[in-house]
Amino acid sequence: MTAASSPARPHGAPAASPAATDLTPGRPLVFRNATVLTMDGAHNVLHGGDVLVSGERIAAVGQRLDVPDGTAEVDATGGMLMPGMIDTHRHMWQTAMRGYGADWTLTQYFVWYYLQWGKAFRPQDIYAGNLLAALEAIDAGVTTTVDWSHGLQTVEHADAAVDALAEVPGRFVLAYGNIQQGPWEWSAAPEFRDFVGRRFSGSDMLGFQMAFDVTGDPAFPERAAFEIARELGAPVTTHAGVWGATNDDGIRLMHEHGFMTPATIYVHAATLTRDSYHRIAATGGAASVSTESEQSAGQGYPPTSVSLSMDTSVWWSGDLFSAMRTTLGADRSREHLEAHGRSETVTHCHLRAEDVVGWATRGGAAALGLDSVTGSLEPGKKADVVLIKNDASPVMFPLLNPYGHVAFQAQRGDVHTVVVNGRVVKYDHILVGGGLAKARQVVEQTVEYLMAQLGPDDWTKGMHPEIPQAKVLDNPYTYTEWDAGSAQWKGGGSSDDPASAG
Ligand SMILES: [Zn+2]
Repeated sequence: MTAASSPARPHGAPAASPAATDLTPGRPLVFRNATVLTMDGAHNVLHGGDVLVSGERIAAVGQRLDVPDGTAEVDATGGMLMPGMIDTHRHMWQTAMRGYGADWTLTQYFVWYYLQWGKAFRPQDIYAGNLLAALEAIDAGVTTTVDWSHGLQTVEHADAAVDALAEVPGRFVLAYGNIQQGPWEWSAAPEFRDFVGRRFSGSDMLGFQMAFDVTGDPAFPERAAFEIARELGAPVTTHAGVWGATNDDGIRLMHEHGFMTPATIYVHAATLTRDSYHRIAATGGAASVSTESEQSAGQGYPPTSVSLSMDTSVWWSGDLFSAMRTTLGADRSREHLEAHGRSETVTHCHLRAEDVVGWATRGGAAALGLDSVTGSLEPGKKADVVLIKNDASPVMFPLLNPYGHVAFQAQRGDVHTVVVNGRVVKYDHILVGGGLAKARQVVEQTVEYLMAQLGPDDWTKGMHPEIPQAKVLDNPYTYTEWDAGSAQWKGGGSSDDPASAG
């Protein structure tokens, strides 16, 4: 164990790394001799670089840094340091059903959560999913996660969601939503405003957004919710350009009514026309691309974008290594396919590994308005730092192309150390402070409860959906209903359960 009284260590070889118990909050910490992907404005990469963390912030980035007496020194030789990754859209509550919907279509997802079983989730089930997802995020080096929390049927559910986030030392943004009501309904409830006032103080550790979708109903019933968001100063995050669900009409309505702002986040933004992309670009909003999701749920082909997200662990993974890899693969496969259609050959890939590492870090920070806080390794920023290092892995050398190594070679098991806001939350591949035992216990209770609610037949059918003989619904993803007979929208203020109409 290195003594706190050891002299300052300028220019020396790295000391033996400290034990986890030596990394006490408040003690300065230096990572020595890594390949440092700063993701600063110039994307500088340092070889043999150090990063010094002091208090909540990055104090210095450089080579052979002089550090204060008593600084804990972590030998990062052979590893890569990068900013904490940022997931701009994840339905954390759904992590309690991890992997259940691996073979779903988007329609089956909507039917299961929106129409059939989403209502069965109690506050403690939201808590369970969020707790596990939050631990999963920091374990994978995702230091900031937007919890796109659209299962908040009551404020008790919302309190449970925040309780779980508050127990895990990551940076989170609660994006409040409720798929069981129109956004003009839940956002008008006095207890919603009370909740916002009670639980959010403007801390950069817990942000707030409003999460709802714009269906394209020409009456634009979502207007009231946008007005409340504006009044609360809350950014709106919305699933946009989801094939068969949301489209250009929603974007046009938002734009015409003045609700597209630089803080707005457009999740997927996949099947939109050039006109909609122009409206997004002109108003400064950001896209959140969930490539694993778009590839398998069919929202449309992901566009080139600025931030990455995982969507939901009921289908896919929850780590941004997968997001970077699938985004490169999807973009390149489309590029090749389109070229072959013209009898041409792609000779240069236009999307680079460096681009997706940028989207997973500083791109996410910019999308969330946190670019002065996190997203790069620069002195003065909050210390959200990830060390990728795994001496037991044959995949960690040679380390020739750092961006390529992060995007195509590394994986979550290679995350050695994670620092959030200056605090070490994972060290030597193990979460500091535990939490997994509790998460396992509450998730088991939720799974047991849901299995009992569904019964064995529906539980099995939900996981192994068969191709139906009859068409289920054209679009279950609506707050208001399109009546084909009268060719009119109906509802728009009704809280009737759409399931009862089907
Ligand atoms: Zn989503």
